[in-house]
Amino acid sequence: MIEEPGSSEQRRGEDFADLAAAIREFQAEGFAVGEVTESVCGRCEGRAFRVVADDDVARRTCTACGTSEFIVDSADYWDEAEPVECECPCGGDKFAAAVGFSLHPDGEVRWVSVGLRCLADGAMGVYADWKINYGPSAHLVNLA
Ligand SMILES: [Zn+2]
Ligand SMILES: [Zn+2]
Repeated sequence: MIEEPGSSEQRRGEDFADLAAAIREFQAEGFAVGEVTESVCGRCEGRAFRVVADDDVARRTCTACGTSEFIVDSADYWDEAEPVECECPCGGDKFAAAVGFSLHPDGEVRWVSVGLRCLADGAMGVYADWKINYGPSAHLVNLA
């Protein structure tokens, strides 16, 4: 879940490398994050999004072209979820996004973490993370 607003742990960053580092550090459920993939709009290659998420789903909408895309396998679970708009403690709602993947030794995905970096103040946090309990799942690393 999100880092506590206003805590001294609140990290700020400027780019994908900073966000990737924050996701690795967060290590959802204690699982080491092997890969981090930056979210890029499939239509216009934009990298700024509004994001709606529940505990185990997330969908991003490109602020440049309005295209909405599900993050990882969220489309499969969307109907059961109650996603809400992600908002930074500063009130910002536009983010750069990246997904961290914890991998099994064979390359299958064990856990995903959706990290967001606020484009207003740079605050970073993991807003959703969930388990992947099926296979094959190695292809999911391309669906940030
Ligand atoms: Zn776009
Ligand atoms: Zn912010």
